[in-house]
Amino acid sequence: MNSSTIFRGFHHQYSLFGTGTITAKGAMQPQIILLKEGTEASQGRSQIISNINACQAIVDCVRTTLGPRGMDKLMVEAQGKATISNDGATIMKLLDVVHPAAKTLVDIAKSQDAEVGDGTTSVVILAGEFLKQMKPFVEEGVHSQIIIRGVRKATQLAVQFINEIAVKPKKDDEVELRQLLEKCAATAMGSKLINQQKDFFSKMVVDAVMMLDELLPLNMIGIKKVPGGALEDTLLVAGVAFKKTFSYAGFEMQPKQYTDPKIALLNIELELKAERDNAEVRLENVEEYQKVVDAEWTILYDKLEKLHLSGAKVVLSKLPIGDVATQYFADRDMFCAGRVPEEDLKRTMKACGGSILTTVADLGDSVLGTCQHFEEKQIGGDRFNIFTGCPQAKTCTIIIRGGAEQFMEETERSLHDAIMIVRRAKKNDAVVAGGGAIEMELSKHLRDVSRTIAGKEQMLISAIARALEIIPRQLCDNAGFDSTNILNKLRQKHAQGNRWMGVDILNEDVADNMEKCVWEPSLVKINALSAASEATCLILSVDETIKNPKSGEGPAPQGRPGARRPF
Ligand code: ADP
Ligand code: MG
Repeated sequence: MNSSTIFRGFHHQYSLFGTGTITAKGAMQPQIILLKEGTEASQGRSQIISNINACQAIVDCVRTTLGPRGMDKLMVEAQGKATISNDGATIMKLLDVVHPAAKTLVDIAKSQDAEVGDGTTSVVILAGEFLKQMKPFVEEGVHSQIIIRGVRKATQLAVQFINEIAVKPKKDDEVELRQLLEKCAATAMGSKLINQQKDFFSKMVVDAVMMLDELLPLNMIGIKKVPGGALEDTLLVAGVAFKKTFSYAGFEMQPKQYTDPKIALLNIELELKAERDNAEVRLENVEEYQKVVDAEWTILYDKLEKLHLSGAKVVLSKLPIGDVATQYFADRDMFCAGRVPEEDLKRTMKACGGSILTTVADLGDSVLGTCQHFEEKQIGGDRFNIFTGCPQAKTCTIIIRGGAEQFMEETERSLHDAIMIVRRAKKNDAVVAGGGAIEMELSKHLRDVSRTIAGKEQMLISAIARALEIIPRQLCDNAGFDSTNILNKLRQKHAQGNRWMGVDILNEDVADNMEKCVWEPSLVKINALSAASEATCLILSVDETIKNPKSGEGPAPQGRPGARRPF
């Protein structure tokens, strides 16, 4: 888009040789103008520096949230909706960053969230620190490409080293695997609002993930929130559960429990007005009107009868189920629920089998689902429809209880992080010690390697080694510890070969975090390092920004609605 604008400006408004002509006096220099008036362009070294500074500002926003003693952020959106969070990706998403280079950091936080689910704050802090350490090199005039090569090399060395030293507990040992998973979950939740209940929740999260099948699909774990009760009242249902939907009179007469019911999943409206609404009908007299009404009843009854005859006991529909239908089902000891949210209906389908039907013409056993037990149950102030013992897919639902809405939302995000980590750890079971231990070890390794390399790369790799220390340093700063003191201790311990020494958050000291069970999947660290390094290289390689004032106004470009907001 930019290049076309540049050329349009050039053709229509300016000549290449500018506005000045060389006169006999020779006083006026020919001016070369390529860009339309008002376009801002900045380039060169100062551009890279200014991008680095912008990124630093973003990093400063999330810096204090890192680690078990990190603070939370309360963010208020334009509409006044408040969100309290400790999750890097959530904060970054809500920040509404407009600086084009700083947006890269938002992107890496998002991608870390999507890829591994945890380590979102770490990735942003790391990228910021890499940039900060590279800034002096840029200022001194080292060419960006050389810096980039150095950063890439350091990352590659670090990733290789993580793979070498990561610990792989035995996977075939059920008990050991479970312990490993619980510890990873506990570490992920240790830095969140719910860290007081992390033992309770880490068991629950591991149970939930264990219920899934081999592929561990994330969408088969449903998370529901019911206000009220204590956090410890949160419960895990081994099956599908969703809130009871709106219902008509007659519903209370329906049975609320079945064993081995057949389940019909519909995308059909079972209401009287449905047929009339779809067409315009012109009537001459009362008899004709009566016929229309009768026809409607016949159509509806026909559908209901087919459902009844199919033997289905539970009828769920995405669309409304009206009062007539509700009464009809109640008379025949059937259960129905209309307006079931689509994702719940789909999850029920995956778990219980059958298909979501748009017609009742062919109701056979092949399209009906089933489960061992269905029940409608009171949980807190809400009633829940619960399906357990589902034959087709393994699924489960976590029903979060708690006070404030924001609190439950943050709990949901924290559980999401933990679930992602447990999934990752189960698939790929290598772990490293957290709390800055792995970063310190990497830092030492890179420093050692850098000494064997001649040339500028030596400086660059040791700068990256220095940058890695930001994680333990920030953990200390956030906990109110003397970070210089602790870092000195850590450097000494690592130099002596104590590989897993990290920050001991409880005792303001250093400790072997492998023994203390502060474990993190090695994948989280590898991904964070690679993403941070990619972002660094990207920002270092941009030496010119051209901003056309016009492109911020008017309608957003086609195909990318809302991609650019005027500010
Ligand atoms: P992120 O979004 O990057 O996961 P967190 O706020 O969750 O950010 O903080 C994660 C950091 O806190 C990791 O470096 C992890 O090793 C560290 N950490 C977590 N639990 C502990 C603990 N009990 N002791 C020391 N460090 C911990
Ligand atoms: Mg975390």
